Parts: sequence; structure tokens; C-alpha cells
Amino acid sequence: AYTAEPFVPGRGGLAALRKAAADCRGCPLHRDATQTVFGEGAAHARVMLVGEQPGDQEDRQGKPFVGPAGKLLDRALAEAGIEPADAYVTNAVKHFKFTQAEPRKRRIHKAPSLREMTACGPWLAKELEIVEPELIVVLGATAGKALLGSSFRVTQVRGTVLEEEIHGRRERLVPTVHPSAVLRAEDREAAYRGLVADLEVAARALG
Ligand code: SF4
Repeated sequence: AYTAEPFVPGRGGLAALRKAAADCRGCPLHRDATQTVFGEGAAHARVMLVGEQPGDQEDRQGKPFVGPAGKLLDRALAEAGIEPADAYVTNAVKHFKFTQAEPRKRRIHKAPSLREMTACGPWLAKELEIVEPELIVVLGATAGKALLGSSFRVTQVRGTVLEEEIHGRRERLVPTVHPSAVLRAEDREAAYRGLVADLEVAARALG
């Protein structure tokens, strides 16, 4: 089975973890992607935001949430009153998965499979162990499935505070949509307001 497990160091902080993740070969996604895109933010951030996987811009720049969806997320977080200094952002899967009709053609995002999410899980587990956030914001269905299992439905639980056992730790989570879903929505303004409202639930849960 695919797994990142042999690549995850037993000790060290976030810097050591990020360095090790750069060489991960735990599943085939590293082959076509430019680089590993690891999480970023304060080592003891109060809230961890978990997305699906890096996108095109993230893959090129090696940083999470730097593309259009990331910019929208920053704006929504500010509006909800969550300080960037309190937030650590990462993804359930650390390599960009895409299809491309021909070289030099646009790379089209493809959702990661359950096998790939499971393979990449040890990185997220370690990030949670080190950062120890007070709250996890689950951005979209893929992150939800990676953390809470395949029966997760974002529409049923968004904007509520859940308490679940995640990788052996009791965690509080607030699910919401992925910011890229807001960008794709027909009524973008309504979708954006919905995202901000869910993040406000997270901000209140942080106190
Ligand atoms: Fe490793 Fe995750 Fe990249 Fe797969 S997606 S190679 S498990 S870092």
C-alpha cells in the first residue's frame, strides 16, 4: 500500500518535518508534481486550516494557499476575525494532482483518491501532533473525508463545531467549503458570505 510513513521523521519540529516531506515518495503523486507543498504558519497556531491539495500556483511556488483560492481565504479569514498569526494552513495531500492534455497545456486539477489521501495522512497527523491547534477548520469534502472518513458530507455539518478523535487525539473541528468552490459558485457573493459565516463560527469557538 502507498504510505508516507517511512519518510516521516520520528523527532524534530516543523522545519525537520518540512525538509523530510520534500523527499517523500510515499505515493505516485510526487512524480508529475513540481515539489512537495508543506503546511505553513506558526508552530503553535491556534487554528489549523486543512484543504485538499496544492493547486497550480501552489505547486509552482511551493507554498500552500498562494493562488486565487488562497487569496479569497485570506480575505474571508480577516473578515471573520481570525488573525493570520493564529493560523496554520496545510492540505490533506501534499502534492498537486492534475491532468494535462499535452505538455505546455493548462494543468487541470484532479481530486486525490482515497489511497492517496490515506498515503499522505502521516504528514497531517504529525503536523497536528506538533502544532496542537485548539481548532481545525476543514476546508471542503476531500479534507473532511481525509480527517473524518468517507461518510463525511460538508453540506450536513458545515458551520458546526464537531468533536472527534483524529489520529489518536481529541480534536474540535469546524467544517466549511473549500475556497475554490466559492470561486466556482454561480452566486459567488452568497457562497463567499457562507464561507465567512462558517469561519465566524470557528472564530467564536476559539474565543
Ligand atoms: Fe508523499 Fe503525500 Fe506527496 Fe504522496 S502526496 S508523495 S504521500 S507527500
